[in-house]
Amino acid sequence: MNYHLITFGCQMNKSDSERIASVLENMGYQAVNKPERADLIIVNMCSVRQSAVDRVDGLGKKFTEFKKQNPNLKTALTGCVLLPDKTKLKKQFDLIFDIKNLTKLSNMLCYPLVIPRSNTLEYFSVFPDSDSLVTAYVPIITGCNNFCAYCVVPYVRGEEISRPAQEIIKEVKKLIKNGHKEIILLGQNVNSYKDKNTNFPQLLKLINDLPGEFWLRFITSHPKDLSDELIETMAKSEKITEYLHLPVQAGDNQILKKMNRGYSVDQYKNLIEKIRKKIKNISISTDIIVGFPGETKKQFKQTAKLMKWAKFDMVYTAQYSPRPMTVASKLEDNVIKKEKKRREQILTKILKKTALKNNKKYVNKTVEVLIEQKTKNDFYLGKTRTFKNVKIKDLKGSLKIGQFIKTKIIKAMPWGLEGQIEK
Ligand code: SAH
Ligand code: SF4
Repeated sequence: MNYHLITFGCQMNKSDSERIASVLENMGYQAVNKPERADLIIVNMCSVRQSAVDRVDGLGKKFTEFKKQNPNLKTALTGCVLLPDKTKLKKQFDLIFDIKNLTKLSNMLCYPLVIPRSNTLEYFSVFPDSDSLVTAYVPIITGCNNFCAYCVVPYVRGEEISRPAQEIIKEVKKLIKNGHKEIILLGQNVNSYKDKNTNFPQLLKLINDLPGEFWLRFITSHPKDLSDELIETMAKSEKITEYLHLPVQAGDNQILKKMNRGYSVDQYKNLIEKIRKKIKNISISTDIIVGFPGETKKQFKQTAKLMKWAKFDMVYTAQYSPRPMTVASKLEDNVIKKEKKRREQILTKILKKTALKNNKKYVNKTVEVLIEQKTKNDFYLGKTRTFKNVKIKDLKGSLKIGQFIKTKIIKAMPWGLEGQIEK
């Protein structure tokens, strides 16, 4: 029996898909690259933007066609599915299941009954089947209680539930033993992590103290919850890398308030200053939404101004997309598509400049690189502690995937670096 798994969206969905693959393989299924060859197709969907939902709708239609050729084909949908979309997509998929019920997948495929959503994180007991030998994603908290005005996550993922610290430690130990060199902790807001007596900085410290050679990263931090204790822990812990993803979303106080983000521009700027003072050479990335309902040109300029000030290393820009059920969906989506695109392009231009300027500081310096991949033409690709991509020409051909190697940076580009192995 063959399966084909399609994943959309964030790292959390990608991580969930590693567990889906693991369950399917235990059931005796084998992965295939072409959906045409599959007996079971699973789509792990994202609802953050309408475009992602539309793509799943298109796939559903395509699979209905496949079924005419292969009547035994089964299709299932999971991930972040909004209630109104569920009704529509039900016609196209044999089964829509909640990821929290993953361990019951084999039953659900036989009897596609509606099983109520489990309120536990039992499915995390499934050990992930990861594609990468180097990087491992470890979910530590799911759901979100923040209800930012534009965002569907609290509606599709439910309320925050933290995984027991001991279970996380056990999983990380196993991943390190299996040779993983980069552990990335996942959560919509990792700073809200709380298990009995363990908060997020304490969890980080516990993982940092595990024996072995590995790097520790985490996404995503919410600016309103990032504590001094966390900054302190980052500064002191050898394995926690100098990289932070800190989504700001907008650079105008009124828009931030309408978004329900819980901080002002000045608070965000103070936070960045504090972090940069404690953690030298830290690289910082962010998320920004352009064209939130009512965002004027003047308010947008505030975002551009903040971006120039913050000198981000990376920015993931999104054009606002109204989502059903959210508070913002009741506001008029009055910034036209063309204007959203224009704003996005302005931000990309600023980013290209600041990122290149930041990257140029690496030239002629020697940094540690974790090798992740080999390309067809004998280049290796890796990352610095600061999450910068590095392309390396290995003249001697002695590099190995998963190796940490001191590398001299010889060239800087806006989206990465080029390095050379020192003799
Ligand atoms: N928990 C994270 C973000 C999760 S969603 C945080 O608080 O920052 C990932 C990103 O998708 C967000 O940071 C936001 O920039 C974008 N996004 C979410 N909802 C959106 C919407 N309705 N339209 C456009 N972009 C959106
Ligand atoms: Fe969405 Fe806000 Fe929660 Fe992030 S913090 S997942 S943007 S509601």
